Amino acid sequence: MKAIVLKAFGGPEQLQVEEVPTPQVGAGEVLVRVEAAGVCHHDLLHRAGHLPGAHTGVVLGHEVAGEVVEVGAGVHHLAVGARVVVYQRRFCGQCRDCLRGRQDLCRALGLPSVDTEGAYAEYLRVPAISAIELPDGLDYVQAALASCPIGTSVRALLGEAALKPGETVLINGASGGLGAHQIQLAKAYGARVIAVTGSADKRELLHNLGADDVIVANGNYSAEVWALTGKRGVDVAMENLGSTLEDTLRSMALGGRVVVLGNVAPASVPVNPGLLIGRRIRLQGSGSATLEEVRVALALIKGGQVKPLIDRVLPFHQVAEAHALLESRQVTGRIVLSGW
Ligand SMILES: [Zn+2]
Ligand SMILES: [Zn+2]
Repeated sequence: MKAIVLKAFGGPEQLQVEEVPTPQVGAGEVLVRVEAAGVCHHDLLHRAGHLPGAHTGVVLGHEVAGEVVEVGAGVHHLAVGARVVVYQRRFCGQCRDCLRGRQDLCRALGLPSVDTEGAYAEYLRVPAISAIELPDGLDYVQAALASCPIGTSVRALLGEAALKPGETVLINGASGGLGAHQIQLAKAYGARVIAVTGSADKRELLHNLGADDVIVANGNYSAEVWALTGKRGVDVAMENLGSTLEDTLRSMALGGRVVVLGNVAPASVPVNPGLLIGRRIRLQGSGSATLEEVRVALALIKGGQVKPLIDRVLPFHQVAEAHALLESRQVTGRIVLSGW
């Protein structure tokens, strides 16, 4: 089969199409023909060598939708021909966290891209427990976003922050793959959304996605948040960038919940304990989603409450271009790879 192999850590040119053996399915596994694969910022970090423990010689990609073409022994809930989305991580399915439905906490988990097998390929072998059937009528390109950007946002906004109708949410990096879907999710749950973007030309897009207010700023937005909320602050914040955490903390209301789920330019940032205490702020990390939250994401896409924001669809062999575009921040939502 054809696969895109990461030859070495470095630029987009390190992603090269190669002929590799098609994986053989074992017991409890299925082989999925990849119909669509999202390009995630995580893939860029891996490619550039910024992920601890990451390897070269591997196939990246963890945002997959496709068709089951082979099932291994002992697989009962999926048959050949099933249309599926693949959960973004490998979990054991047997530990206490998996059995209580918190696959995102499983210690066995690893991203396929951190391991060896990813979705930038014609076929992907995965444990059958990590393949979720698509609702009827959902196309593969849309479904490819259900697990990572949308499922991860469901986890952060509904799971960790437990967003309530009528609350105010701050979403930074708002036109990115996480932010664009969080805006729609928050509106579907009856919240007021203050979106922060670095570029003024994204203002209209963010309003169209449902943002009530848009702040154009690269950091330093807390004063404007303060003005927009009558000096109250926001109840919930989605920190999609990481580097802006200090300003996000200053934007919070008493009892606010900050969920950190992005770390675009990995670095340490200061946190003022006095601010956490004084405002009773809950600071929470979040990543991935539970299987149930991927189903929530699929249902919201199917129902039209969340429309996957797809910048463009490119064939797999243009993966280097996809990475370069995402790196230069010329992308609104996701680039999805489909077709060779
Ligand atoms: Zn992703
Ligand atoms: Zn587990």
